[in-house]
Amino acid sequence: MTKASRSNKKTVHAYSVGFGFRPPYQILMDGDFCKAALEKQVYVKDELPNLMGDVTRQVVTECILKDIKSRGHEFTSAYILAKKFEARRCPHKETPVSGYQCIRDLVGTENKQHFCVATQNPKLKDRMRKIPGVPIIYVNVKQQGLGLEPMTERSKQVMKLHEMEKIKPLDKETLKIKRALFSNEEEEKKADAHKPHPKKRKVKGVNPLAMKKKKKKMPPPPKKKTTESVAAAAK
Ligand SMILES: [Zn+2]
Repeated sequence: MTKASRSNKKTVHAYSVGFGFRPPYQILMDGDFCKAALEKQVYVKDELPNLMGDVTRQVVTECILKDIKSRGHEFTSAYILAKKFEARRCPHKETPVSGYQCIRDLVGTENKQHFCVATQNPKLKDRMRKIPGVPIIYVNVKQQGLGLEPMTERSKQVMKLHEMEKIKPLDKETLKIKRALFSNEEEEKKADAHKPHPKKRKVKGVNPLAMKKKKKKMPPPPKKKTTESVAAAAK
């Protein structure tokens, strides 16, 4: 066993203990990953189970397929490859979104469906690293194989909290920390923006120009300190 495969095995084990990942592992792939795999002649159907050490299911969505198709000639082979995989239902049937957005929405803030995300898109990788419990798979361009990123610190912290939880229920303070690890400001802002605005009631006899909208006070952003103190609390 090579050093890399030993460390991959350890990482997969950590995800199964800490976040309940079980085979067959669902590998959610984007167009960039498919394209890179083809270019590097990585046969994903064989290489993914090798990487994860067990059975995998290769998954895409209609949004991802549409996204790949829309990228034209250069992505034709990637599209043909992606079409062979299992197309999972996503929440965008009416209005398809980009592959990036679709994967973001499917994973959500907790990755409840236990997806492993296979991508070659730096922006998506960055995003996925912020969510605890998302294994990230990439095409290793130098070694012509697949790679599994090591677990993020954030994931490790949540894993520790999960372990503590198994022994006894978390106290209020620790629960708060756990919630802070799962949430992030960007997600909250987005949720806020999507909130339906209350309908304005027409008031007769009042000059509408005089009715200025009150500015909503935003709650202060969660303090960074809480995240840092987790490590201390979890030790
Ligand atoms: Zn979608």
